[in-house]
Amino acid sequence: MGLFSKKYCCLCGEKVGLLGGLKLKDGDLCKECKKKLSPFFDDGKESTVEDIKKQIAAREENYKQLDNLQINKIYGEFGVILIDETNKKFVAVADTSDGLFKSPKVVKSIEDIKDKNPDIIDFKDIEDVDIKIIETTREEKQTIDGQQVSYDPKHYTYMIGFDVIIKVNHPYIKTIRISLKNGTVQIYNEGRRLKDDYVTGFIRDRFGITRVEDRAVHYDNLTIQNIVSNAMKEMPEYSFGFKCTLKNYDSIREYAYYLALCDDIKTTLLNK
Ligand SMILES: [Zn+2]
Repeated sequence: MGLFSKKYCCLCGEKVGLLGGLKLKDGDLCKECKKKLSPFFDDGKESTVEDIKKQIAAREENYKQLDNLQINKIYGEFGVILIDETNKKFVAVADTSDGLFKSPKVVKSIEDIKDKNPDIIDFKDIEDVDIKIIETTREEKQTIDGQQVSYDPKHYTYMIGFDVIIKVNHPYIKTIRISLKNGTVQIYNEGRRLKDDYVTGFIRDRFGITRVEDRAVHYDNLTIQNIVSNAMKEMPEYSFGFKCTLKNYDSIREYAYYLALCDDIKTTLLNK
């Protein structure tokens, strides 16, 4: 057993290359056999050859069951979540694009992602659904006499990403993380975004942070869609804390859309 001893795949018996394979507790898996595993599986070191065999058998059965799904909701334009509300099951794919430099697929039915054999998961096996809204900013400058100069007040582009993290109780998957959009929603803003009561209240109420009594009255009996459309009916001076201009209004709408989407995903998946 030297440093250069050959390793062979515990499934197919082929030689395992240096890269792309998977080290198991009691063996090795080659690159090709690894492709048969769930893309959300990341626990090779803790798994035995027997566990891997079980997983691959379960995934073969999973593939057959995909045709029985009755998908009635599809979320996301990069990573996607497809939901069968009748049978309370869902599947998810983290990246619908194929290979390098290809753009994400528009997913209209299970057929579009069947080649990826997405794992079918029961709502009852969902432990938690967490929405991560990741916001970063970049200052925008103007060029005066060949120099890059700040605006007064400073202008920023807000870059906001929307991730759904689903924790599951499942034989070979722990966490499913889906980015709904390829990249971020980019909102140009003249000045810093206002963290006004409306925005914080909205986010607090819709994303599970404790509701504040005196704000509750504004949200009762309104769905998120109502809130969004009411807020967006005419161009207000500020929307979601952004200073509305013709330049950023469409992207603020897009932001509102993704907020609504996240809320709907959470509500749907937790409806066990
Ligand atoms: Zn193999």
